Amino acid sequence: MEKSIISHISEKANIPQEDVLTRINDKMNEFSGLVSEEGAAYLIAKEMGVDLNTETQKKDLKIENIVSGMRSVSIKAGIVEITQLNNFNKSDGSIGRVQNLILGDETGTIRMSLWDDQTELITKIKKGDSIEIKNAYSKDNNRGLVELRLGKKTIVKSLLGNPVKVIAQTGVVQNTRTPIFLVKQDGVKYEIEGTVLQWFTKNAFFYVCPTCNKRVTSHEGNVYTCEEHGEVTAIKHMVISTIIDDGSASIRCVFFRDIATKLIGTENINNYEELDGLSGTVLGKYINVKGRSKYNTFFNALELIVEDFSEVNVSEKLKNMVEVN
Ligand SMILES: [Zn+2]
Repeated sequence: MEKSIISHISEKANIPQEDVLTRINDKMNEFSGLVSEEGAAYLIAKEMGVDLNTETQKKDLKIENIVSGMRSVSIKAGIVEITQLNNFNKSDGSIGRVQNLILGDETGTIRMSLWDDQTELITKIKKGDSIEIKNAYSKDNNRGLVELRLGKKTIVKSLLGNPVKVIAQTGVVQNTRTPIFLVKQDGVKYEIEGTVLQWFTKNAFFYVCPTCNKRVTSHEGNVYTCEEHGEVTAIKHMVISTIIDDGSASIRCVFFRDIATKLIGTENINNYEELDGLSGTVLGKYINVKGRSKYNTFFNALELIVEDFSEVNVSEKLKNMVEVN
């Protein structure tokens, strides 16, 4: 972790650096090591009313480290997507304009929204370009997700001939575990670790067409119909939603097909009763999850679509922690 974060908290809160370190360690212990040092430092700073914003002007700020409320964000990023320009009626009767850029680097993606005259920036850039942004700021949007905004002092420069690697192009998975309370971005690969507190089996089974693999559109009794292939012998798949908690927050994690089978530990499940009978093996599991975040419009929240997971041996982990200490 950046030493400057510790010295910053120490200076602003007027307590010795050793005390800050002790508090960070205490906080990490409180969460049984489930929160990273940075995560703990953020929690400590928040508790003590210390503003970490001045720490965000670091030259190498990566998208995964952008949190809401930063007043001076400088990043280098590739333009992954440019959305359509939308006009809307403002309360004063004038016409407003809004257009979004999706920016990416090797750690993740983030939305930058452009308002009114700011949308003219679009005439100077295109999808695939790399740009450098200085002195932007970050805030939660109406979905509770962090996004970038341009301020009066913001400078946007083209990085011609010096392209930035983008997660979608490199397929790089973040290999640092993120505390769940810092999972704030849509369409980003995250690794989290926590306990399965709840699971939802109510609509766990769904049926797909054996030819096109799409969900069948209707069924009566045992007759399933695919929009394209008509009456088919549908294949049964599973989807299981869970709530996973790491002490810092909880998040809905969705397990599909093979990954769902892996979660329940058996393929031989024929009905809901059998599935519910397995709750004892699923609930309370402590797992490491790699997945992609996706905004669920029904729940108005981010969820993780699980791409893979592994069970963590908690007693082994605790033993290792004791040995290290
Ligand atoms: Zn089909």
